[in-house]
Amino acid sequence: MYNDIVMDHFQHPRNGGEITDADAVVEVGSPECGDTTKIYLTIRDNRIEDVKFQTLGCAAAIASSSMATEMIKGKTLEEAWKLTNRQVSDALGGLPEKKLHCSVLAEGAIREAINQYRKNMGLEPWTE
Ligand SMILES: [Zn+2]
Repeated sequence: MYNDIVMDHFQHPRNGGEITDADAVVEVGSPECGDTTKIYLTIRDNRIEDVKFQTLGCAAAIASSSMATEMIKGKTLEEAWKLTNRQVSDALGGLPEKKLHCSVLAEGAIREAINQYRKNMGLEPWTE
């Protein structure tokens, strides 16, 4: 069902864990298959200096979180905001169609975390 890249990120997730003094922490859930993702961001000079995640869920959700965090690390908030679940899925070499919704979780969590940070800084949250 899953390709080798997905299986590799599922079995050896990058950036798994937590950041105790993170600048933003959010948890989002997907009702479709019960996945939940918690994202921690450390932000310096408008860049994502560090990112960690804890995902409870299926292989697609865990692999997507792992790949998505790899893709936003070191990026500006503007760049990270533009990351889509389609880009994450492509970077993973493709997810099964019925599992695509699981990759939306990482995209949503990253955006919520960015907006939480903006709120903390007294800035307007971004919308689409
Ligand atoms: Zn899932």
